[in-house]
Amino acid sequence: MAISPELLEILRCPKCKEKVEETPDGSGLKCLNPECSLVYPVREDIPIMLIEEAKVGDGKPSVNAN
Ligand SMILES: [Zn+2]
Repeated sequence: MAISPELLEILRCPKCKEKVEETPDGSGLKCLNPECSLVYPVREDIPIMLIEEAKVGDGKPSVNAN
């Protein structure tokens, strides 16, 4: 595991201050707030907790669905 549980415990989403969890493939950290669902990248085992670097994860349907 790239990110230690101790680190995950203290990391918070900078946008909504919710906790984050490692994505199944370990390539990112996903915000646990379903209203936010931002996924922060992990580079060289270092989480990049920047809103500008984050992507919107799954769990949020496309707004353009018609
Ligand atoms: Zn969030």
